[in-house]
Amino acid sequence: MKLYEKTAAELSEMLRNKECSAAEILNDVNERIDKVEDKVGAYVTLNEKAMESAKAVDEAIAKGEKLHPLAGIPIGIKDNISTKGIRTTCSSKMLENYVPPFNATVVDKVNEAGMVITGKMNMDEFAMGSSTETSYIHLTRNPRDLECVPGGSSGGSAAAVAAGEAIVTLGSDTGGSIRQPAALCGVVGMKPTYGSVSRYGLVAFASSLDQIGSFGKSVRDVAMVQSVISGYDKMDATSSYMEKTDYAADLKDSVKGLRVGVPDEYFGDGIDDDAKESVYNAIKTLEANGAEIKKISLPSTEFAINTYYIIASAEASSNLARFDGVKYGYRAKDYDGLIDMYEKTRSEGFGDEVKRRIMLGTFVLSSGFYDAYYKKAKLVQRKISAEFSDAFKECDIIATPTVPSAAFKIGENIGDPLKMYYSDVCTVTVNIAGLPAISMPCGTNSAGMPFGLQFIGNKFAEQTILDAANGYEKICGGFNAIAGTL
Ligand code: GLN
Repeated sequence: MKLYEKTAAELSEMLRNKECSAAEILNDVNERIDKVEDKVGAYVTLNEKAMESAKAVDEAIAKGEKLHPLAGIPIGIKDNISTKGIRTTCSSKMLENYVPPFNATVVDKVNEAGMVITGKMNMDEFAMGSSTETSYIHLTRNPRDLECVPGGSSGGSAAAVAAGEAIVTLGSDTGGSIRQPAALCGVVGMKPTYGSVSRYGLVAFASSLDQIGSFGKSVRDVAMVQSVISGYDKMDATSSYMEKTDYAADLKDSVKGLRVGVPDEYFGDGIDDDAKESVYNAIKTLEANGAEIKKISLPSTEFAINTYYIIASAEASSNLARFDGVKYGYRAKDYDGLIDMYEKTRSEGFGDEVKRRIMLGTFVLSSGFYDAYYKKAKLVQRKISAEFSDAFKECDIIATPTVPSAAFKIGENIGDPLKMYYSDVCTVTVNIAGLPAISMPCGTNSAGMPFGLQFIGNKFAEQTILDAANGYEKICGGFNAIAGTL
């Protein structure tokens, strides 16, 4: 087995036992990038200083210093997370040449742990999309079928893990952008509780929904990365006070006695039969291994997509006002006065999907429509949250499909925004309620493309969903996260 095929946990063990060096791991990942990146297109920018970081870890090991378990592990960072001195484009023309003067808090934490940043991962422009096709930079392809999308918006982060172009990666999830691509690429991805990971330095899309999380080949890897990136940060006003937790230290691997809620509303008409079947099979497997399955109801789920696209677009229209040609990034070349400069800069700098969100958001916030749309959406948000709270009185986790169907073909949905929005039908409720959720592979369609099983937890119950997911992974005997097709 090549080093890039191993999990972070395995590589960490090998480093500790001096069976390989951090430089060797990075070399192996770099060779893999050389071999497959032309086909996959997971990266926007490679970190030229990666080898320097890897060698620094090797020197520290040689000196006998006590290092973090993830020291020396290659990690890719989604391109909406600020990296000092490394271009951070949000896959937009607007920020094509923007080099941040500071690190996001998660990047500082990753660096402090001695992890090796391989580069910046492709995404949908400003994280708006479900296929990575709205990227201004280039296309990312699904490593399991190059004709298919990797999902989005964190498509580059998911594809890189499945292709072996990074060992773990960071993404962001506003309505499903970690879990959906994780499902479509056949890897593990977790969206943590709102407030558990600092958003300082994450380019804002919808601030009340955005959350940074990670991708890996195994649940343990995701638990290890979550332990690095989570925790209170005074630089983020919505960061929660919480004890520093090591989610990997006592990771359980039994689902015995686990109370699993199964909401009918997530298995409705829009979900493909084979997606339902794989998730039902996974649930039966959990039951056969001692979990207690409970039928539950989350009746407001049917309003979730509408609610999400109102709230997310409203916040996006406000957050993206800052890209005006004055402060950051792109400015139109020819213009006649200030207003014309704003107009041309924003018309030329943003892609169609971003413009659609800004218009939608401005509309729902406008004085004539605020009550009819935005205010109503905020009321439904409370209802969705309350239904989850009630459900968690009788179950530990809620199990649902992550996606309504397996990866679709490149170009198939890009001309039909409503169809694209439907990709998030199983994931947006979690952001609306600020909950943690994890997606892991569970079976494939007839073409061999993976589906995702989603475990949703109560607020700050990351350990519970990680334990449950780890239990499921053990039952499955691992997830074969590396795409064998490349
Ligand atoms: N696909 C959803 C959207 O386009 C979610 C995006 C995300 O989670 N960043 O808004």
